[in-house]
Amino acid sequence: MIAYLEHFVQENEPETMADTDEARLVSAMDLHGTITCHSTSAASSDFGGLHHTKPLAVIRPSGADDISKAVKFAGNSANLTVAARGNGHSINGQAMSDGGFVVDMRSTENCVFSVMRRHRGAADYVADVSGGALWEDVLKRCVSEFGLAPRSWTDYLGLSVGGTLSNAGISGQAFRYGPQTSNVLELEVVDGNGDIVICSKNQSSELFYSVLGGLGQFGIITRARVLLQQAPEMVKWIRLVYSEFSEFTQDAEFLVSLPDGGDSFDYVEGFAFCNTDDPVNGYQSVLLDSSQRFDPTRIPCSAGPVLYCLEVALHYSKSHDSSSVNAVVNRLIGRLRFVEGLRFEMELSYMEFLLRVKRVEQEARCNGIWDSPHPWLNLFVSKMHIADFDRLVFKQILNHGVGGPMLVYPLLRSKWDSRTSVVLPEGEIFYLVALLRSALPYPKGPSVDEQVSQNREIMNCCVRNGIDFKLYFPHYNTEEGWKQHFGDQWPRFVERKARFDPMAILAPGQKIFRRNH
Ligand code: FAD
Repeated sequence: MIAYLEHFVQENEPETMADTDEARLVSAMDLHGTITCHSTSAASSDFGGLHHTKPLAVIRPSGADDISKAVKFAGNSANLTVAARGNGHSINGQAMSDGGFVVDMRSTENCVFSVMRRHRGAADYVADVSGGALWEDVLKRCVSEFGLAPRSWTDYLGLSVGGTLSNAGISGQAFRYGPQTSNVLELEVVDGNGDIVICSKNQSSELFYSVLGGLGQFGIITRARVLLQQAPEMVKWIRLVYSEFSEFTQDAEFLVSLPDGGDSFDYVEGFAFCNTDDPVNGYQSVLLDSSQRFDPTRIPCSAGPVLYCLEVALHYSKSHDSSSVNAVVNRLIGRLRFVEGLRFEMELSYMEFLLRVKRVEQEARCNGIWDSPHPWLNLFVSKMHIADFDRLVFKQILNHGVGGPMLVYPLLRSKWDSRTSVVLPEGEIFYLVALLRSALPYPKGPSVDEQVSQNREIMNCCVRNGIDFKLYFPHYNTEEGWKQHFGDQWPRFVERKARFDPMAILAPGQKIFRRNH
């Protein structure tokens, strides 16, 4: 086998691979799925559009057995690596494998789907879903077939289960339920030795926690058991505009800190936008539908170049009368200090609410923005320094916007499990800052270099000013960068790698470890 492999990897340039080579690879690995060495372009790029790396082959596995065989096969070679590709929505080539295998997890999306009670006789439910399934499909099946739904989401649902669980998976529900990684009870994983392992907090727990937020370094998630709740029917979706950052953050922190069980919103997010009528970066970005109007005369004269919008949502059932829903909303909102007259709201079904970014995707696909580069920057910034971040970054570096949303909202560290591989800034409250650049392709929009260098300027500014932050979807090219990112958790991360992927076969696109020979 090894002799055959050496011949294969050394003598076959990917470009010259013939169908017979693909057939030989399939039979050498004994796969039930398929392999292509020709049509690899989709796996050579990602949503970010900044990196392009050609794999040797794309494997479309039929299930965990095929993935295990591919990892073992790579392990028996001199230098092959294996990258799971969920939906390729990374920014910096994280799901790519230079000259190695990309495993297209979408081919396994229908391998698993079942809903069951968590404990016999209990009223709470869980779903077993494939690591390659998209969250939007999980949502549709859970709601339409069972009237149930996962509790913690991302804003956009065209992301794979394994892809978000390898990072964290956050949206406006995370203040209550934690990230998606806090809502998983069990995983089936193919580790770096090619072993298929079922893990949970009680079984192979070190692997379980390593894989959650593990950037794909310790195993490929082939199945996840996800906590469910009764699917809400309706959502009241509200946006409130602030001119003062301190009032915005105090109100947001107040809302996310309300005790569980009492009146509170079910979703809390926020974003910064420009104090202009720029159609992308300004007032229009706050409106929830085309019938709404933003009255800029309401903005106090003292306002700066950037304004803030608190975004909240309340679930309710169709049987609730609107006055009781409004009473809850008004009780919660009555204490907030948004600008009078700058409150926008709409009612929609739970599915429409969760799929709200799909509309944005459709528009962006039509105008060419979806397929152009996206040099996004996502950070977690400690509460201690978020006002500095506002002053130095939003109000100065980004006072003309980023051509897309600039999310900023608080999260609670106690809802995250420190045993997972995710690293966070200090303190109970920290902020997600997501700069979702969505400019028109150059020269209509800024060049990629300009946007990337502005990202660098923001990170340098944070470092220079002692702002405590961590990158979400981290991307570093040097070991020093990764060491700093993980801080005192670096030795744990390295030990986990040595234990679960000793040859460093998995997720090479993260550029953390080099393949061992
Ligand atoms: P990929 O890009 O395919 O893979 C990401 C990494 O995970 C790679 O290293 C890959 O090897 C690894 N991986 C993939 N599948 C598996 C698996 N089954 N097992 C182990 N490792 C695997 N994130 C949020 O938290 N909240 C949001 O609201 C949010 N919104 C987004 C909106 C858009 C439009 C985009 C493009 C991204 C958004 N993200 C959000 C970021 C997203 O969660 C990450 O980029 C995620 O990695 C994408 O999932 P994917 O399935 O496309 O992963």
